Amino acid sequence: GSTLEIRDLHVTVADKEILRGVNLTVRAGETHAIMGPNGSGKSTLAYAIAGHPKYTITGGQVLLDGVDLLELTVDERARAGLFLAMQYPVEVPGVSVSNFLRTAVTSVRGEAPKLREFAKDLKSGMDALSIDATFAQRNVNEGFSGGEKKRHEILQLELLKPKIAVLDETDSGLDVDALRVVSEGINRFRSDETGVLLITHYTRILRYVKPDFVHVFSAGRIVEQGGPELAEKLEAEGYEAYTKASA
Ligand code: ADP
Ligand code: MG
Ligand code: MG
Repeated sequence: GSTLEIRDLHVTVADKEILRGVNLTVRAGETHAIMGPNGSGKSTLAYAIAGHPKYTITGGQVLLDGVDLLELTVDERARAGLFLAMQYPVEVPGVSVSNFLRTAVTSVRGEAPKLREFAKDLKSGMDALSIDATFAQRNVNEGFSGGEKKRHEILQLELLKPKIAVLDETDSGLDVDALRVVSEGINRFRSDETGVLLITHYTRILRYVKPDFVHVFSAGRIVEQGGPELAEKLEAEGYEAYTKASA
């Protein structure tokens, strides 16, 4: 199985240091949750790993099976087996979901999937996520609801079959049904061969996707680590103890 290793990662945004030495290892078969207050740098971590140009790496490494991802282009990172939802454009005018996904699969595999095989995989992925068939012909992200964006993200996960997935569950405003469908998709993806890094502010999704490890983020660093019981403690007590400590 694969291993994602984040070593002493330092990242600045607009000349301000946001990540101040992040260390974290995610192995195949493991699900890690990063939790923390708003503004603590959780999304910055996801964007930095994704190679977003606004985020400047000033120190450290991100290794996937020993290969430094920070030296690779965004496409190469995906081909190496990393999945980051936000590495894909926010809106792709005039490109249907179906074409977009086929292009993404082609890019990751290095060859185009056979049309019939792709159509079959797409249909079973959409069925599993309770996505209506007409969705495949819509333009990517154009007028998507929060729930549709999330389902589209998990559909990518199912089709691209990465080794390690980094999922930033921003305040996605999912209703309970959508949350369950998305969580089931993540759980289907989980296996002895895959690793998940689930970033979230809320404990809600962790009721459905049980993490093996929980890390608390505060002011650009991991300040506490534990098992699933740590998420329960955070649900009961909030982040106050951590924000006070770092202020
Ligand atoms: P979280 O996801 O934990 O809520 P973020 O990573 O979004 O936190 O933000 C961490 C800090 O970095 C915040 O203080 C935020 O204002 C700042 N920041 C993040 N992205 C940008 C950006 N593109 N431009 C300026 N500041 C940013
Ligand atoms: Mg350091
Ligand atoms: Mg965020």
